This record gives sequence, C-alpha cells and structure tokens, in this order.
Amino acid sequence: MNKQKIGWIGLGNMGIPMAKNLLKANYEVTVYNRTKEKEKELIKLGATSAASPQELIEKCDVVFTMLTNDDAVKEVYLNETGLLSKPKPNKLIINMSTISPETSRDIAEISSIQQMEFLEAPVSGSVKPAQDGTLIILVGGSAENYEKAKPLFDVLGKSSILLGEIGLGSSAKLAINYFLALNIQGLAETVLFAERNGVSRENMLTIVNEGACGNGITNIKTPSLLSNQYPAAFSLKYLNKDLNLAKDQGLDSPLFHPLFHSFQKAQNDGLGEEDVMAIIKSL
Ligand code: NAP
Repeated sequence: MNKQKIGWIGLGNMGIPMAKNLLKANYEVTVYNRTKEKEKELIKLGATSAASPQELIEKCDVVFTMLTNDDAVKEVYLNETGLLSKPKPNKLIINMSTISPETSRDIAEISSIQQMEFLEAPVSGSVKPAQDGTLIILVGGSAENYEKAKPLFDVLGKSSILLGEIGLGSSAKLAINYFLALNIQGLAETVLFAERNGVSRENMLTIVNEGACGNGITNIKTPSLLSNQYPAAFSLKYLNKDLNLAKDQGLDSPLFHPLFHSFQKAQNDGLGEEDVMAIIKSL
C-alpha cells in the first residue's frame, strides 16, 4: 500500500475512472460524493466512504476534487462541513474541476488562511484518457506542492505541466477548450457540407482522419458521428460553461462569437446533456 492517504470528492464521468486509477496504483482512497449511490462502485474496489468533505479531509493527506463548476466547488470547499471549514495544517488539496481563475485564486487564499496547501490542476482529455491514465494535467501553484503531487499526477495523466501561479492552470484549460470547441464545430460543419453535396459521412470522415486534418478529436468522435448517437463523454453543457468562462476572461476573437452562439443554440435546443459532438444535430 502506498503511504499517502488520498481523498476523492466528485464521482462523475471523470472522477470515477480517475479515483479508480489511484486505487489500482495501491493508494488508500476515501471517497465522498453528494449522490451516495455513485460511491458504490469505488467501495467495491476497496475505497472507504466519508460522510462529508470535512470528515474526508480529516482522514487524508491529499484530497482531490473533480466537480461540475464554480458553484459546486464553492459549496464543497466553503460550506459548514466543507473542506476549508476548519484549519488542517499540512493537508494538500488539489482541484481538478474546470473553474474560473478567480474562484481558483479565492479558494487558494482561503486554503492558506486555514493553513492548507492548494493546487489547481484542471485536465485536458475526456473519459477515455481518464480511464487510461493519459490525461494532460495543467497545474497552477507552488513548485513545492507540485513536487508533492507529481507521483499522483503520474498515475492520473501522461503528463503534467506546472504553468506558474494559481490561475494559470485554469486559464490554460479555458484556452484548450476553446480549441476543442473550434475542432468540434469545424468537424460537424465539414461533414454536413460534404453530405449535402452527396459525399457520405463515412467517406468524409475517412478523408479527414487519414489526412493532415485528422487529429485526436476527429478520431475519437468518428464512431459517434457514424452511429449518430452522442452519449456524454464531455457534456455539451460543460463546454458551454467553459466558453462562458472564457468569455468572462476576455476571449473576443473573430471565431469566438459565432462559436459561442452556436453552442448556446445547441443547449437551447435541448442538447446540453449529450456529448459536445451532438452540436451536429443543431446545425
Ligand atoms: P459530472 O459527470 O457531471 O460529475 C460532476 C460531479 O460533481 C458529480 O460527482 C456531482 O455530484 C458533483 N457535484 C455537482 N454539484 C455539486 C454540489 N453542489 N455539491 C457536491 N457535489 C456536486 O462531470 P464530469 O464530466 O465528471 O466533469 C467534472 C469536471 O471536469 C467539470 O468541471 C468538467 O468541466 C471537467 N472536465 C470534464 C471532462 C469530460 O470529458 N467529462 C474533461 C475535462 C474536464 P452528484 O453525483 O451528486 O451529481
């Protein structure tokens, strides 16, 4: 058994496979999820359960959070049974949820008042890389905390990058998700344009994937485009959340505005719970 005791909060599409990888790497893991049902799978694999984030942090040396958005993070960290409700010297908390750089800096400041260490570490990569332990981890915080967390990042990802102060990890994450949105929208538009002119979806996707325009995203999304089924790996509503955060951070480039409206429209069309690639249905 590895020595450090790990806590994991947030057992959604990403959190479950990530926490499983820590168990597989022989770490002792305690989990907390708002909806208790989702803890069962991890408990079967050897995790223990905590009744609240506060109880969880008492048992652990390092705590990860993988939660929906800024509001979920504030609730789990700041409410009366939250992670930061009592001082806990020497504990390290690592937030991997995608949130705004401002919230990340606020949480870091309150952590420091409560004598706890904090890193932000949002991830690039979706459910498959989370399962395979091949995420790219975008870290903001001190070099000392990064070194403490590095063996754990090595379990969860294929690489981790220390970008500098808190906020930079979140900013990098918003930038890469803008590029993701451009890719998804571009792929959907290309396939539809080809189809309208008589080129089959299958043939067009072969041309994309075998040529210089093919990339990780075009390959990963090909099966769903061919079956026209879009179960959420990365929900469209979450990409919208990230485009909104990017807008708040000043993203104002020529392609951003039509892209933003396109994803907004898809969400208004009722596609928020489906995968980002479901954008094609609203086009
Ligand atoms: P998800 O499946 O919806 O899971 C969200 C988790 O947050 C669940 O455990 C949920 O608990 C918890 N939660 C939400 N609100 C809460 C609250 N107020 N209090 C306590 N817990 C709360 O989301 P996901 O796809 O795993 O994504 C998690 C984060 O990773 C998001 O920030 C997302 O943008 C980012 N991300 C996702 C992907 C991806 O491909 N999915 C890739 C990179 C980054 P319940 O079970 O009780 O609802």
